[in-house]
Amino acid sequence: EDYNIDQKIQDFIAQVEAKNPNEPEFLQAVKEVAITVIPFIESRKDYQGMKLLERMVEAERIIIFRVPWVDDKGEIHVNRGFRIQMNSAIGPYKGGIRFHPTVNLSVLKFLAFEQVFKNSLTTLPMGGGKGGSDFDPQGKSDMEVMRFCQAFMTELCKHIGPETDVPAGDIGVGAREIGYLFGQYKKVRNEFSGVLTGKGLAYGGSLIRPEATGYGVVYFCEQMLGTINEKIEGKVFAVSGFGNVAWGVIKKVNELGGKVVTISGPDGFIYDETGISGEKVDYLLELRSSGNNRAEDYIKKYPEAKFFAGRRPWEIKCDVAIPAATQNELDLEDAKKLVKNGLICITEAANMPSNLDAINYFLENKVLFSPGKASNAGGVATSGLEMTQNSIRLNWTSEEVDARLKEIMVGIHKACRNYGKEEDGYVNYVKGANIAGFVKVAEAMLAQGVV
Ligand code: GLU
Repeated sequence: EDYNIDQKIQDFIAQVEAKNPNEPEFLQAVKEVAITVIPFIESRKDYQGMKLLERMVEAERIIIFRVPWVDDKGEIHVNRGFRIQMNSAIGPYKGGIRFHPTVNLSVLKFLAFEQVFKNSLTTLPMGGGKGGSDFDPQGKSDMEVMRFCQAFMTELCKHIGPETDVPAGDIGVGAREIGYLFGQYKKVRNEFSGVLTGKGLAYGGSLIRPEATGYGVVYFCEQMLGTINEKIEGKVFAVSGFGNVAWGVIKKVNELGGKVVTISGPDGFIYDETGISGEKVDYLLELRSSGNNRAEDYIKKYPEAKFFAGRRPWEIKCDVAIPAATQNELDLEDAKKLVKNGLICITEAANMPSNLDAINYFLENKVLFSPGKASNAGGVATSGLEMTQNSIRLNWTSEEVDARLKEIMVGIHKACRNYGKEEDGYVNYVKGANIAGFVKVAEAMLAQGVV
């Protein structure tokens, strides 16, 4: 029986690989799901066997388009734009837009695929999607970014809408970009609606949305630690990245009495033994809003901290690791160093930051490990709350949004435990998140016919 299932998993992965050649990130995300979900499907007679999963790895629709724009010197550029409409079984497509030179079809398909499970886990009615462009906002002027956003939305606006597909931000797309994108959508469609989330407060945004991903990660981490009677207070945290997500994580960890000793950029990482708190956190935001993602600048203001060029924070001794930068930023060697240094918990804040070997190592060593699709779902969950507020044309207080966010994260943790608890009591959050996320989408797809 077990052999049969292993063979089924291998065959399924081989089939997906043959159909989607040269898409390593997408295949990695599918593998992680297949390994945990196929045994579950096989245990259920009413799930059409593999036929359901076969449809779930095929996007409902993919839009690829030309984005021509003119820079400040009058020179013409062209970038590629994408929107992956992955699955709309439980609600309109929902997911961010990423502007980064590494963006390609494989990266966006992996993100869209993960988004389907993540959005399902939030319990809110949101399907899964993702979009973006290989455009690099680094070093571009405000007006260049605006013209690019306008060109991008001129095409995208034909394919999205508040009841169809609701994009938001991701790497390289923050409040400024969402503003420009929203302005162009409204102009071309002559429609003021909740078509995007992560909007500014003045035009339909939600309180707490900027902090939501990071806060949600820490609420989830708190729940994980609770399962072994531990708490955030007094723990040492290694965090990577220093964008919007890392910022929210650091704020909440400080608030709950933990100490964050690292941040990182593409140039290397910062180790600040005294803890990144107080005005240092505001400084991160300041660095960031000057359009800079170099971590090294931190030591110009805080010379007591150390900068390690070209390295990752995972060599630092910590109790909890929170990767909050990007995909595949933590490999097997990093996982070994962390575990050797006494790591008790790793709560992913980025999407797929740990590769499959690293994940397996954490699971084998029974370290608490949560995949981003569960622990970083607070961002999109709060986007869902922004959609609700737009629909009822009211704004909730930050207390109300934060309370709902926390409740959702506690609920996701519970769902993961339900489906991921093993005989010895250890919770496999990867299995738990994948099965819990899968069930709702599967039920909806089965009810809607062959979709
Ligand atoms: N980009 C975020 C994510 O990975 C947020 C998506 C959204 O708010 O729609 O979940």
